[in-house]
Amino acid sequence: MPDMTIANKTFSNNSWQSILEEIKEEVAPLLSQGQVAAYIPELGRVDKNKFGMAVRLINGDLFEIGDSKTNFSVQSISKVFTLTKAFSILKDELWKRVGKEPSGNPFNSLIQLERENGKPRNPFINAGAIVVADCIANNYDDPLNYMIRFIRELADNKNLKLNVNVFQSEKKTGHRNAALAHFMKSYGNIQSEVGDVLDLYFGHCSLELNCVDLSNAFLYLANHGTHPISGKTYLSASQAKRLNALLLTCGTYDAAGDFAFKVGMPGKSGVGGGIAAIIPGLLSISVWSPGLDKHGNSLAGVKALELFTTKTGISIF
Ligand code: GLU
Repeated sequence: MPDMTIANKTFSNNSWQSILEEIKEEVAPLLSQGQVAAYIPELGRVDKNKFGMAVRLINGDLFEIGDSKTNFSVQSISKVFTLTKAFSILKDELWKRVGKEPSGNPFNSLIQLERENGKPRNPFINAGAIVVADCIANNYDDPLNYMIRFIRELADNKNLKLNVNVFQSEKKTGHRNAALAHFMKSYGNIQSEVGDVLDLYFGHCSLELNCVDLSNAFLYLANHGTHPISGKTYLSASQAKRLNALLLTCGTYDAAGDFAFKVGMPGKSGVGGGIAAIIPGLLSISVWSPGLDKHGNSLAGVKALELFTTKTGISIF
């Protein structure tokens, strides 16, 4: 591909690749310092020394490094795909059931829900994603398989599947999520059976993708809701703007302010150690390193994205 000039800098294929190489080297000392998400027992077994990254430009060019093709548990990153579906079905009616403000609380907190009458602050905290899952469960006979097919299409990978051990592990130990769902049902904000909604929620969190899959799957958000390669539209430009705004303000747990400050991209993290982010009109990027910081974001992953926007001089700002 020809060189591109962005923000007064010229990028060749070699320069994208050497930026990724420098990042990999610079984050190496951080890999051992994070903690894996042992509260989901199956995730506690993942090797902390993994690191992968992939960048997909909207012209289709792909640059990748390290363990970019190793599958990992996407966890909360999948909430972006369920939100996309629910938003495209319910349109602005969705916001009657889930808010759009940062929560400032841990992602699995119960306290705020009681104060706010069972309406979760935003669709990315667990309670919000459970409401979103309910919206999908109400619309499809086999919602989990429907979502898996949808995510396969976005990622352009027909082989994506869920990790049954992670699914069972979450189902067995996800008492807090069950509490959130029952609590919201008591306010009428869950319509399907709680067990069915949780199966969908745990199911989509247990999907395994790799960095290349994720950078494909986020590309429509970098291109105003339409996948630039397949040409398929998943959200209107206005909806994509809104979803990206939610990613910036609520996508990285209660460290979203710090993430925006350091990284300058809308992104979503998951406790499996993945983070996917975008720059509208330009690219999607994903990173995976399983060791987490105290907020639940990948320690080396956040640093890698910060280095990417610093070294390239490209961010949304
Ligand atoms: N399935 C995880 C949970 O419900 C998702 C957590 C996350 O990645 O934020 O606890």
